[in-house]
Amino acid sequence: MTSPYHWLQKSLQTLHQADRYRSVKTITQRAGAIAILDGEPVINFASNDYLGLAGDDRLIQSAIAATQEYGTGSTGSRLLSGHRDLHRQLERAIADLKQTEDAIVFSSGYLANLGAITALVGQRDLILADSDNHSSLKNGAKLSGATVFDYPHCNMGELENLLQQSRHQYRRCLMVSDTVFSMEGDRCPLPQLINLAQTHGAMLLVDEAHATGIFGERGAGVVEAMGQSGQELVQVGTLSKALGSLGGYVAGSAALVDFLRNRAATWIYTTALSPADTAAALAAIAIVKSEPLRRQQLWQNVAILRDFLQNFDLFPSQSPILCLGLSSAKEALAMSDHLRSQGIFVPAIRPPTVSTSRLRFSVMATHEPQQLEQAVKAVAGYLWHRSLNAHPSR
Ligand code: PMP
Repeated sequence: MTSPYHWLQKSLQTLHQADRYRSVKTITQRAGAIAILDGEPVINFASNDYLGLAGDDRLIQSAIAATQEYGTGSTGSRLLSGHRDLHRQLERAIADLKQTEDAIVFSSGYLANLGAITALVGQRDLILADSDNHSSLKNGAKLSGATVFDYPHCNMGELENLLQQSRHQYRRCLMVSDTVFSMEGDRCPLPQLINLAQTHGAMLLVDEAHATGIFGERGAGVVEAMGQSGQELVQVGTLSKALGSLGGYVAGSAALVDFLRNRAATWIYTTALSPADTAAALAAIAIVKSEPLRRQQLWQNVAILRDFLQNFDLFPSQSPILCLGLSSAKEALAMSDHLRSQGIFVPAIRPPTVSTSRLRFSVMATHEPQQLEQAVKAVAGYLWHRSLNAHPSR
């Protein structure tokens, strides 16, 4: 009899054949703009550590101090033995940053999205979601049992049509969108989303994973940058990108947070965030509030790289995520490999993560201008060689 696991090898072969196979790359040494990747130094354009805080001594010392005080693990879920005063301090700090009544921290951003969506809606409800939302929003929607309709990316006309046609058939409606789209780098039209939610009696959940710490004068995110602080929203985010730690959060009204503490399964039935991660995130929020210069540095670097890349097939971006469109997964891999050979680490993003292949640059505040220039020279060199090979008579 053949093994019931026989299909795994076949499935892996298919992934290889379609240039969709993925594997891990090992980075040694502390997080930063330069990474030692499989033993070789590379300029790192693959990191979500936008402000360069994951390697900051203050976060590291906070994590060490919390570990010494409380130990390594939280030992239980928040409602049993896992709650520490540090968790509450972090939740208060997030609420203060986001200008919301309260906040609740989860063990990751992914779990925050799953937990919030499944708690807020169920089988009698409707979810209207941007087609390019993050996997955690898509899977949260599926898991909730609600009816889910996707609207084309950022298409407010289509969203309005769906609301007009369907809203009245359901008990509750939850609109769901990233504020910064992680694989395109563009932003959602937040004021229009809020307007539509208000007009049609819908709740609005926004994912600020790639916005927290970097958008807005105080670093609160796109909600702050677009002048929408104070609106009644469900704001989700992560502690693992610009905040350099691990974990996720939901910020909003006191009632929302109290409800999630009672109903979000991914918060109730999982071990509380570790003392080290909690303390590191708390230190990061203090830095986000007190060091706006880091954000300025980041946006300067984004402008430099965007400028350098403007002659290529760059996606319209309003964030530190800059994507170059490529014709196939094979080409994205070839270009990523070439850049890697030139000491530049830029990941190839391929289907099924996205519908069309691309190279995705993530800019950091701690990149040096000459590192940005080096990356662009390598891109230009690759494209020039490719065009010569495509037209050998030239
Ligand atoms: N939302 C978005 C838009 C993301 O990009 C990510 C991380 N890739 C998450 C949520 C999940 O966050 P975390 O890594 O904290 O689980």
